[in-house]
Amino acid sequence: PLTGAALDAAVVEADHRHVLHSWSAQAHLPSFVVAGGAGCRVWDHAGTTWLDFSSQLVNTNIGHQHPAVVAAIAEQARTLTTISPATANLARGRAAERILARAPEGFAKVFFTNGGADANENAVRMARLHTGRDKVVSTYRSYHGNTGAAVVATGDWRRVPNEYARGHVHAFGPYAYRSEFWATSEAEECERALHHLERVVQCEGPASVAAILLETIPGTAGVLVPPPGYLAGVREICDRYGLVLILDEVMAGFGRTGAWFAFDDHGVVPDLVTFAKGVNSGYVPAGGVLVSDTIAATFDERVFPGGLTYSGHPLAMAAIVAALDAMEAEGVVENAARVGREVLGPGLAALAAENPLVGEVRGTGVFWAVELVADPATREPLPAADMARIKTLCLERGLLPFVAENRVHVVPPCVVTDDEAREGLAILAGVLRDVAADRPS
Ligand code: PLP
Repeated sequence: PLTGAALDAAVVEADHRHVLHSWSAQAHLPSFVVAGGAGCRVWDHAGTTWLDFSSQLVNTNIGHQHPAVVAAIAEQARTLTTISPATANLARGRAAERILARAPEGFAKVFFTNGGADANENAVRMARLHTGRDKVVSTYRSYHGNTGAAVVATGDWRRVPNEYARGHVHAFGPYAYRSEFWATSEAEECERALHHLERVVQCEGPASVAAILLETIPGTAGVLVPPPGYLAGVREICDRYGLVLILDEVMAGFGRTGAWFAFDDHGVVPDLVTFAKGVNSGYVPAGGVLVSDTIAATFDERVFPGGLTYSGHPLAMAAIVAALDAMEAEGVVENAARVGREVLGPGLAALAAENPLVGEVRGTGVFWAVELVADPATREPLPAADMARIKTLCLERGLLPFVAENRVHVVPPCVVTDDEAREGLAILAGVLRDVAADRPS
């Protein structure tokens, strides 16, 4: 049997030949092999290791292969690997309890899904059915998942109450560094973004708008932490016009920001909360919707016309219970907050001060973006070729980064130690220094 580098080559060969990859031109796939992992590190078959500053797709909040979560999945597999969602099951009820224990008052129910996209799909559906309206306002700078048309394409009766092929409206959210509103301060950005959002709702006709759907902190779009007061202002707009506020916590939730939910730091309570990723660190696919008591009551006597074969899958539920218990017992959320405050925040501020490529750093907890620019005055984004080089150099030097457009997102697992955080920052700083030195001045 093949081992080491030869096995890595065979893995790449089989993958490129047979796997159709998401979001990719298939003739231009990366050749990065991961054979195993533990904590904040991953490795290939040849034994090369990387410090994971990506948490994969920002989901391994508890790190790789946490023994308690792995053991809970194994134990559940021995007991019952799968069961219909219509049954009552111990693991499912416990997982819901664990999640709701972290939620604000007024949330007593969870609808479980397989991931984040279908969590949003079902939250939008709940908002539409609850309000009897169909438009959903979300922002241009957001990612909510890769489904949407599936239910409209369905042929049988299940399509009928969900047949919304229209009804999406977009607005700009606050982003002070690249303001759409000519704002010169965060307060001005906040005020103008709220004015713009309210005008969009008014012009669409509030009586046709079901919901405003926002990532609490837009993640893939650049870790755009909203200015103080923005989310409270959105809540007010929702209340003024009778709209449902859906906050997408798929990436921001379950420890990433140093809080159980990102909205905990913003003094708002949404009506629906979508989650996935960090709830069980993706060890088994899972997501869901936290449903406010008011919206849940809509479906007391009326059928909720939605469901999934694997809603509340026992292996995923056992992983949720174990992950949340371990995060609580080990202070993982507190660790994320502290590392952000004491190591990543100051370290990235120092990087911004020393390196001319860094236009802005922003974030909280273990959720940061380093925005790279060709020219700090014009804020022109660093070209793709430089970003590709940054990624290559990071990998060569033992760091697995999360690169999006002209940004490096610093998003290690919430269990990252001070030493690991410093090690990753040092590699990133060295790479950026070398790329800056090689650029024409
Ligand atoms: N919402 C947000 C904020 C996300 O970041 C993602 C995935 O990155 C999703 C939804 C979609 O989740 P999934 O890929 O599990 O369907």
